[in-house]
Amino acid sequence: MDCLFCKIVAGEIPARKLYEDDQVLAFHDIAPQAPLHILVIPKKHISTLLDLSAADTALAGHILFTAQRLAKDQGCAEGFRVVMNCNELGGQTVYHIHMHLMAKRQMTWPPG
Ligand code: AMP
Ligand code: ZN
Repeated sequence: MDCLFCKIVAGEIPARKLYEDDQVLAFHDIAPQAPLHILVIPKKHISTLLDLSAADTALAGHILFTAQRLAKDQGCAEGFRVVMNCNELGGQTVYHIHMHLMAKRQMTWPPG
C-alpha cells in the first residue's frame, strides 16, 4: 500500500520517533506548526476518522492517552492542543489517521 505513514511504521522512511508500542507510534512532525508538534498514529492503517469501526474504539482511546502522556513527558501540562483532521475539507493531507499534538506556544481559536 502506498501510504507514507505505513512506510514510517515499516521503517522504510525515517522519522524522529518519540514513542512506540505494539499499537501506536509517535514522531515529530516534519513541518512543525508549534515548537512541539508530534503526530500519534496507529500502526494499523486506517485512512480517515470516518473509517474507524466500533472495534477500533480502544485503539482510538490509546492514541488519545498516548498524546496525553507525551504532553506530560514533554513538559506541556500547562497547555496543549490535539487535533485530528478528516478528509480534504477538514484539512487532511495524509490519509492514515493521526493525532496532532501541538504545544509550547499560545494557541488561538478558531484555528483557521
Ligand atoms: P494532516 O494535514 O492533518 O493530514 O497532517 C499531516 C501532517 O503530516 C502534516 O502536519 C505534515 O507536516 C506531516 N508530515 C508529512 N510528511 C511527514 C513525514 N515524512 N514525517 C513527519 N511528518 C510528516
Ligand atoms: Zn497507512
